[in-house]
Amino acid sequence: MLVARPKKIRWVEAVPPVRVFKPVGVPRCDLEEIVLTVEEFEAIRLKDLENLEQEECAQRMSISRPTFQRILNSAHEKIASMLTHGCALRVEGGTYQLVERHRCPRCEHEFALPESSPELEGEIECPECESALTQAVEKPGRRRRRHGKGWQRG
Ligand SMILES: [Zn+2]
Repeated sequence: MLVARPKKIRWVEAVPPVRVFKPVGVPRCDLEEIVLTVEEFEAIRLKDLENLEQEECAQRMSISRPTFQRILNSAHEKIASMLTHGCALRVEGGTYQLVERHRCPRCEHEFALPESSPELEGEIECPECESALTQAVEKPGRRRRRHGKGWQRG
């Protein structure tokens, strides 16, 4: 007998600022809509925009490398299909937990904590050197709004 394994929660650091993309001049009812999950969006953001190695992308999302590869392939296929067939795209759903990244000012170690974590309310300790820290790494969306030059970074 096959027992369905519960899906592992994927960590996601940023959600898209726009959730629905639609070709100009085509009534919505005539459009086929492709749904990209939030973790597929995150896979593209990490690999194709932040240009991280697959191993690091997988770590950032708290999943295995083959799983990351599968999610990224699926995301690429959906976007290729959307561009080729002129579909609308909606970013929605998935199995994920929003996390917030932190950087230790003392040892520079970076780590992520779930956004709903009660630890975020008080003092956070670095898992590497155990020094207390309060420095959250800014989210890409927030960073872009503040400086308006997100695309030119790096
Ligand atoms: Zn540290």
